[in-house]
Amino acid sequence: MDAIEQYVAEHGSRHERELAEWVAVPSVSATGEGMAAAADHARELLVRSGLAPRVVETGGWPLVTGHAEGPAGSPHVVIYGHYDVQPAGPLEEWHSPPFEATIRDGRMYGRGTGDNKGQHLAQLLAVRALRDCHGELPCSVTVLLDGEEEIGSPNLTATLTGLRDELDADVAVWSDGPVNAAFEPTVSLGVRGVVSFEITVRGARSPLHSGNWGNVAPNPAWELVWLLSTMKGPDGRILIDGYDTGTVPLTAAERAALEALPVDAEQLLAGVGLDRLDHADGSVNERLAMPTLSINSLTCLDNNEHRTVIPAVAVARCDMRLACGQRTSTVVEAVRAHVARHLPQAEVQFKALMEPSRTLPDAPYAEAVLKAVGDNALFEPAMGGSLPIAGLTEGLGLPCYGIPLANVDERNHAPNENFELRRFHDGIVTAARVLLGIGRAG
Ligand SMILES: [Zn+2]
Repeated sequence: MDAIEQYVAEHGSRHERELAEWVAVPSVSATGEGMAAAADHARELLVRSGLAPRVVETGGWPLVTGHAEGPAGSPHVVIYGHYDVQPAGPLEEWHSPPFEATIRDGRMYGRGTGDNKGQHLAQLLAVRALRDCHGELPCSVTVLLDGEEEIGSPNLTATLTGLRDELDADVAVWSDGPVNAAFEPTVSLGVRGVVSFEITVRGARSPLHSGNWGNVAPNPAWELVWLLSTMKGPDGRILIDGYDTGTVPLTAAERAALEALPVDAEQLLAGVGLDRLDHADGSVNERLAMPTLSINSLTCLDNNEHRTVIPAVAVARCDMRLACGQRTSTVVEAVRAHVARHLPQAEVQFKALMEPSRTLPDAPYAEAVLKAVGDNALFEPAMGGSLPIAGLTEGLGLPCYGIPLANVDERNHAPNENFELRRFHDGIVTAARVLLGIGRAG
C-alpha cells in the first residue's frame, strides 16, 4: 500500500463526512435553491485543499476556481467539475431526503452524491492527500467548479475565454458520469454535443369532439407525427438536410480505440429489459459515437384519460446528440429550416445546447493519464452523453481527459441518486495517481 492509499484508508470517515456535508447544501441551478451558500461552500472546500479560491461572476451562477502552484516547470492541470445539481424530482420516490446524505449498503444516497459533488470532491481530496503525504503537488493545479452545468453551462465558454491568461494550462481532466457499463477503467477522450428542442403544433382553441369535427378540423397530433416521420426514417437514418455538416470521420487510432472497447450487447440490453437494438447501423460503440435524434416525449397536454377528441395542441420534446465536428448552430438552423419547410405553422423552441468535444488518443498526456488510471485501462473515443468540455478543448485549446468514477446505477438526475463509497475512496487514489502521472510526464 502506498502513502496515498494509506492516507485515504485512514481518513475514510472524515472524507465521507465532508461528502455528506457537501450534499446537504442544496445547489439547484435551475431554481436557484441554495446557490449562494453552495458557492461559499465550494470556496471553503478549495481552501481546505490548499487552493487559492476565487468566485468568478459569469452573468449567471458563479464559477468557483482554486489554484495552487506545483514545482517550477511542472505541467499545469485544469480540473473541471460542477457544484450545481439537478432538482430533487418527486420527493415521494426518494427513500431518504434528497439533501440529507444517508448511507445504506455501502452507498451514500442524496442529490449530487455522484453528479457531481462526490466526483469533484474526490479530486479535491486527492490534491489534499498529495500535499499532506508528499509536502507538495506534482504539478500546478487549477480547479474550475461550474455552477451552471445542469442548465447547459450557457456562460462557461465565454467565462473561460476571459480567464485565458491564468488558464494557460497544459491539460484538463474531469470526473463525471458513471463508469463504462462493459469495461472499466476507461478514459473518455470526448463527449457528444447536444441540441434539445420542443416542437408545438396548435389546432383549435380547445379540444374538439372527434365525431363532430373529424375530417373538418386539422388534428395537431397527426400533423406533429407526420412532421416527426420526415425527420428520421424507420432505418434509423436522420433525414434533416444539413444536420451533419462538418462531421469528421474517426481517425485510425480512434477507430482502433473504439473497436478495442468490449461490449456485450445482449447483456447491456437485458439489463434494461430489452431484447432488440434500435433501428440503426453499426456496433453498440459506433452507435454511441454517431449523431442521434430522440423523441423524449409526445403529449397533447390533456391526454391523461382517453377522450374522443381532436386535441388543441400537440408537443414533442426532442434532442439530438452531436458527433465530433458538428456545430450546435448548424444543427439549430437545419432543424428550424426542416420544420419551416414541412410544417410551417409548427413552433420550435431550442433549449440546451452543448458542442461536442474531441481529444485524440495520441494527444499530449493521453498515455500518462491512461496508465495512471490503470494498467488495463482503455480509451473511449467519445462518451455518449454531453458535458461542456468544448469550453476546455476549443475555448482553451487543452487536451482533455474524462475519468468517470461513479457506479453505473448512480441514478444521476433521478430519485435515490447514490455513489458507492468504495468508488468514492478509490476515486481519491485514482485522481492522485492521475496528477502524479501528469507531473511525471511533464
Ligand atoms: Zn448531471
